[in-house]
Amino acid sequence: MNQIELKSLLADRSPETPAGRIVRTLSERGSMSAAQLARLTGLAKSTVSTALSELKRSNMVVETGSESAGSVGRPATTLTLNPEAGTCIGILIGQSEIQVIVADVSHQILSDATAVIEPDYSPARGVEVVRELIDAAYANQWRSPDALLGVGIAVGGPVSPITGEVMRGGIPNWAGVNLHEMFGPMFDAPIFADNESNCSAIAEMTWGAAQGFEDFVLYTLDLGVGGAIVSGGRVLRGIAGGAGEFGHVVIDPDGPLCRCGNRGCLEVYASFREPLAAAERHVGHALRIADVVRLALDGDETCRRLIRQAGEAGGRGLGLIGSVFNPALVVVSGRLASAGALLMDPLAESFERFSLVKGRDMPDFARTLLRPSAFVDNGACMGAVGLVLRHHGQPLNLPH
Ligand SMILES: [Zn+2]
Repeated sequence: MNQIELKSLLADRSPETPAGRIVRTLSERGSMSAAQLARLTGLAKSTVSTALSELKRSNMVVETGSESAGSVGRPATTLTLNPEAGTCIGILIGQSEIQVIVADVSHQILSDATAVIEPDYSPARGVEVVRELIDAAYANQWRSPDALLGVGIAVGGPVSPITGEVMRGGIPNWAGVNLHEMFGPMFDAPIFADNESNCSAIAEMTWGAAQGFEDFVLYTLDLGVGGAIVSGGRVLRGIAGGAGEFGHVVIDPDGPLCRCGNRGCLEVYASFREPLAAAERHVGHALRIADVVRLALDGDETCRRLIRQAGEAGGRGLGLIGSVFNPALVVVSGRLASAGALLMDPLAESFERFSLVKGRDMPDFARTLLRPSAFVDNGACMGAVGLVLRHHGQPLNLPH
């Protein structure tokens, strides 16, 4: 197998050859049958079959097994890129943790490790921890880091698509840091970076609740409120990486002060910060959001009410987003999403009330779907892996 050839096929942004399109599709979607490949690439079945024979001969594509094609007919063989062909690294630069996932090109996770780090850590210290986690991951694997196809970085703040600079501090000490300068010397492979929400959207699109959707909105309800906009299978990043920052749409300029410095942002009303404090007063000790969700699911009335109210407030904000995008799908993410119907029902009700286009007036196919996210904790880091598999955006370390 020719690894250079695979690298170049993956990096080709608009592959013209059938082989290039097949490799890109398998990289983006994981395993699938030849019939699915034909449908997704728009190539004739015979063209797919010829190209696949060549790709299998050069060992770039392998058969992984079979999946039932329904009650009639024999099961279809599924194909993936050869897992031996290369690895991708996903890195999450979090508030108080750093996570590194190593996966291969067949979408198999080889290692997933998180290190807790002091909240005001310096970028240099962060890079050191990343290096330790990567060294440990590869030491435990039989695969060599030489086969690295790319690195994705998820960071809690907008990342400039042009310079690779973290534009605003979602994390203390990281505002103004140039990710290319920090991580470039460490890797001899393309580096991709985006903010956490955008990475979560990529994870949902690739493996989660938005599979099969090319256009959707991710809406995050947590201590912060945020999101991402996906259009035509690409995350909209904006000129400075700030697209999809739903939490900081100003609802009331005379409202309470927001952590961003403005007043009356959506986040002030829809964040779970205050409700979490109220839940702590209710039980008399410190809680995490997951604890409040568990108490609510166990029947605690106060916690149920707090989550319901968060859903109502979140739905008001979502009405605004719905009026701007009228999306086919909204994936509700953040730790509150694990409350299921306790959150989703009041959210959907409030969304309907505050939307211009009412679902009840629409036929089924024209109604916005609301779904909780599939990923609860490691969505952003998986999305960082997805940045590489999907070659999302221009790599930081290649000329623009
Ligand atoms: Zn704000």
